[in-house]
Amino acid sequence: MRGAERFRIGDYDCWTLPDGELTYPGSAVLPPESHPPAELTAPYTALLVDTGSTRVLIDTGAGALGPNTGKLAESLASTGFLPEDVHVVILSHAHPDHIAGVRLFPNSAVVMMRKEFEFWMSAETQARLEACEVYGLGPLEAVMAASVRDHLAPARDRLRLLDRPTEIAAGILVFPAPGHTPGHAAVLVSSGRQQLLYVGDALVHPAQFEHPDWVCAFDLSSVETVRTRKQLLERAVADRCLFAGFHLPGALGAVEARQASFRWEPAVAAEMNACVHLREERNHVTGCRRTGTKTHPSISLS
Ligand SMILES: [Zn+2]
Repeated sequence: MRGAERFRIGDYDCWTLPDGELTYPGSAVLPPESHPPAELTAPYTALLVDTGSTRVLIDTGAGALGPNTGKLAESLASTGFLPEDVHVVILSHAHPDHIAGVRLFPNSAVVMMRKEFEFWMSAETQARLEACEVYGLGPLEAVMAASVRDHLAPARDRLRLLDRPTEIAAGILVFPAPGHTPGHAAVLVSSGRQQLLYVGDALVHPAQFEHPDWVCAFDLSSVETVRTRKQLLERAVADRCLFAGFHLPGALGAVEARQASFRWEPAVAAEMNACVHLREERNHVTGCRRTGTKTHPSISLS
């Protein structure tokens, strides 16, 4: 597993916080027309953003869901921060791989869309999950129901439920990005002239950049998932955002438009590219620089 990696968005220090990985049937992640392999291993990576006054964790990992998950605490420790240093936890959505780590942060406010909370907590959804009627995923649906009861319900007293796009800390905007789940949220982090767009599970595999119409077994609404995904990708291209997803390898990268689809670039290349973009725009960029052995170089403007 990769360790936590530090990067910068403007004045904000940020870290990728790997939680581990889980192996899925390939057909659960990619559609038949992609000829998926029998199995696919998906990485799980949360993000930590330190604005200087507020430390925000975005998604919390899967806890004991799989044999190689639940490493968020270890990743956080490697940054030098303690759980009590995290002021706010944002949950992109209420699937088990995103909410099981909430219990590690008993003092943090927990932010999510109200629509997401109410969908998963409703007696109707709980009953339909127990009857395996929501996804057609069999016993995994009961795991989803139990995860909500075990991890979300106990955090009820410290939840901050959002009804609309909301800046929950300086430069950190949480906004609806529905489809994967009804109240799925994305997060835009803005500082200085740089932006990070975290899309949660709006994309779950790198092949979905080139094939944004490919949905997975966990996308509750295929139509809405694809519509939201394309909107997020177009926004990332237009605004030259660093692009992050919970299940993308290394979590970070850049996205470019390519005819009717998109292209994904891994993080280091993406940041080099961001430097080129900035140089073209302002013509007095100091360029990329590497700090120590960190994978992600800082980008600084003079
Ligand atoms: Zn997920």
